[in-house]
Amino acid sequence: LEQNGNPRLRFKLVFLGEQSVGKTSLVTRFMYDSFDNTCQATIGIDFLSKSIDLEGRTVHLQIWDTAGQERFRSIIPNYIRDSKVAVVVYDVTNSTSFQQTSRWIEQVRSERGADVIIMLAGNKTDLVDRRQVSTAEGEQKAKDLNVTFIETSGKAGYNVKQLFQQVASALLGME
Ligand code: GDP
Ligand code: MG
Repeated sequence: LEQNGNPRLRFKLVFLGEQSVGKTSLVTRFMYDSFDNTCQATIGIDFLSKSIDLEGRTVHLQIWDTAGQERFRSIIPNYIRDSKVAVVVYDVTNSTSFQQTSRWIEQVRSERGADVIIMLAGNKTDLVDRRQVSTAEGEQKAKDLNVTFIETSGKAGYNVKQLFQQVASALLGME
């Protein structure tokens, strides 16, 4: 129990999306408020945990940061099956990564049905001149697939805290 007598809220969250869209950078920004310009591909799955205080409650998140390499794809469904939240990330400067989000979202739905919170996150908004996917396109897709939409920049720290707060708020709403 928490100090206020409420049950402990502990949830698993999985980050999904194509390689290099910025999944690890979003997690790193949220965890440590830092950013690394060098590309260090995640090997397999990384696990981190952090708590968010919201509306007088503490939400404990266990975060799985997955890697896009083909040889690890087969283990990803296990993490999806286990997670109450899926954050599907694309890179706003890479339209292929945006198209692929449909496949990731379908995979989450096929594993979890309706019992999941899905966030669609368009990352790298700081790269204004290289944008290939507009905010309106992201919003439309999120609407069509009935998921929550947000745009972020792990580099600039834009909307990263908000992303996790929206997750925590949705989780509290389900209690
Ligand atoms: P992952 O494969 O999805 O985990 O992607 P990474 O987090 O490893 O990021 C891939 C590359 O994109 C790295 O070189 C990052 O520095 C860069 N990157 C990640 N997020 C952003 C962002 O918001 N803006 C910019 N400009 N670069 C980013
Ligand atoms: Mg990574």
